Amino acid sequence: MSAVGPSPVYARVLLDLPVGEVFDYRLGVDQALLAVPGAWVVVPWGNAQRVGLVASVGSSTELAEERVRELTQVLADAPVLPADWFDFLAFVASYYHRTLGEVALPALPKRLRTPPAPRARGSVFARLRRRPIGHEADRPATARAGAADALNPHQQAALDGLREATGFRVSLLHGVTGSGKTEVYLHWLAEVLAGRPDAQALLLVPEIGLTPQLTGLLRARFAGVPLAVLHSELPDAERAAHWLAAVEGRARLVVGTRLAVLTPLPGLAAIVVDEEHDASFKQQEGVRYSARDMAVALAARRDIPVVLGSATPSLESWRAAQTGRYRLLSLPDRVHAGAWPRLRRIDPRRQAMVHGLAPDTRQAISDALARGEQALVFMNRRGFAPVLHCEACGWLSACEHCAAFRVLHRDGGGGAPTRYRLQCHHCGGQSRVPRACPACGNVDLGPLGRGTQRLEDGLRELYPQARIARLDRDVARHRGAAGEVIAAAHRGEVDILVGTQMLAKGHDFQRLSCVVVVDADSGLFSADFRAPERLFALLMQVAGRAGRAGLASEVLIQTRFGQHPLFDALARHDFAAFADAQLAERHQAGLPPFMHQALMRVEARQLDTALAFLGQARELAAHPPAGLTLFDPVPMPMARLAGRERAQLLLEAPARAPLHAFLREWLPAVAGLKGAVRWQIEIDPLEI
Ligand code: ADP
Ligand code: ZN
Ligand code: ZN
Repeated sequence: MSAVGPSPVYARVLLDLPVGEVFDYRLGVDQALLAVPGAWVVVPWGNAQRVGLVASVGSSTELAEERVRELTQVLADAPVLPADWFDFLAFVASYYHRTLGEVALPALPKRLRTPPAPRARGSVFARLRRRPIGHEADRPATARAGAADALNPHQQAALDGLREATGFRVSLLHGVTGSGKTEVYLHWLAEVLAGRPDAQALLLVPEIGLTPQLTGLLRARFAGVPLAVLHSELPDAERAAHWLAAVEGRARLVVGTRLAVLTPLPGLAAIVVDEEHDASFKQQEGVRYSARDMAVALAARRDIPVVLGSATPSLESWRAAQTGRYRLLSLPDRVHAGAWPRLRRIDPRRQAMVHGLAPDTRQAISDALARGEQALVFMNRRGFAPVLHCEACGWLSACEHCAAFRVLHRDGGGGAPTRYRLQCHHCGGQSRVPRACPACGNVDLGPLGRGTQRLEDGLRELYPQARIARLDRDVARHRGAAGEVIAAAHRGEVDILVGTQMLAKGHDFQRLSCVVVVDADSGLFSADFRAPERLFALLMQVAGRAGRAGLASEVLIQTRFGQHPLFDALARHDFAAFADAQLAERHQAGLPPFMHQALMRVEARQLDTALAFLGQARELAAHPPAGLTLFDPVPMPMARLAGRERAQLLLEAPARAPLHAFLREWLPAVAGLKGAVRWQIEIDPLEI
């Protein structure tokens, strides 16, 4: 006879599915003890097996008895995931209007989401637990990385500000690149970890794959503190081992990209979001969550402090600091007295441009090289040329599947034969370079415009003596290649670095004194109201690369709109002036952060089908609550992608609560509409 009452008969299981919240399965007698809430299970779904998580157990089901299937297996060796993690994920799911299963299952490492083979010997979890989580590859960035510097008075004041927080508080740590933000939060995290033997700290960073220096620095600085590294470029098994160490509290410092915010961390005591403005914190597929926003939500639930750091905070965070919701901590100066680079605006009109560079630009690069210093030439367009063109008839290399051009790329180099091809940067579609114009037969096809590959060629021609290296996503595709370029530049083996915004991030080149922005104009006037914010952040970051070791330095910006106030603010590295002007404009125009938005996107074979579906959806909301606006359905800015036509409908409200309340009623009704479309809702969209 049992003293603990009847054992549960059914498990309600979360699965990665957009429908239903939980799915009931019958438990075998020996499974009933193991299938506690938070346990991992394998269940049949159709003809396949899936990994799920137990949400709850019970002695009854609402389903007809004969429709309930038997649970295949409880993964007894897996860590039982804690209730507060499910609570947090339930919040994430409700905020983004998804099911809990859609949020919870993708938060687990892919390796662990795959059902074990029926006769697999030994548990994958046991194997992962035996795996060491150190990397041979991470070297300290500099010899003195192990020792913490004494903080300067501004840094000390910021640290004191962070120390004051007990319980939930959001601090915005603002300071230009090189002002010592990283030092401040590393000091702070060290204190937090020293405070309690089971404390864990989470450090979120935009793109860790590019910054092995960071993990090296952390390992040196936090010697003896087990570190877990979580990002999608790690091999599956390694990532799973790190994840498990974090979940079981064996790792105390957890550093990772956006997905790390969804990791259950039992001892979580502090969170830092570095470069909090960075767009890569926003997931762009599946559940489109903002890791920055969810880090704040998580800190609130766990009642712990969170720090958002940036040289150019998002206007959302800046506004929150201004209204006192966040606490603003500022580092006004660069640590090493090196002056902020001089800004020069160069109007490319009526100038003898060579390879896209104006005479003054070319001179500035020559001067830097003559002084034995480095130059960085920045262009945000990879490939050889953005489009192939027929001069005879005007044909352009359009993508057959998208409303976009195929970009001319050059392969080869390093001994391999040179070959050109056309590639669409949106759908990935590739084609050969036609021998003659497909429209008129003319054989003289030529590149139009310039990408980083062609720019690199031009620089080689202009500066034949210089050692030139390129860094962009084409280079970085080869494992380790990006790291090599950066390391070579650090060792002083590169005179001119040319590349995309990959170069703008976090690297600390000692001899860099000349930064060139080849074309700033594409970001200046755009249909997207966030374009100036992004451009300013990028230019600040690019400019911040120069003169870090105290060299006099300059930034040359080629633009036809040199009078734009954005450049004045940049010249004074005055983020506050820029942000306040932008916020005034946004307020006037009724845009975020003064307005809260959601975007419904629909794709279909025909644009009319997509628009009609959105029209019906809009009719379902014939009487929206006061203050809520549903705009007209319109084609997306890039209406055709990968052969699908796309349209969107924007919703807006001055407060979050009524917007979400409305969505909770409206979305289930939309789900009931018929139409050969796929649709999704995005909350707080970054690009509209
Ligand atoms: P940020 O994160 O704001 O870009 P970092 O914290 O990386 O700035 O600091 C910039 C550089 O200055 C780094 O090389 C760092 O080691 C150094 N540094 C930071 N604080 C100090 C300090 N108090 N004394 C000496 N060097 C420092
Ligand atoms: Zn032609
Ligand atoms: Zn395409």
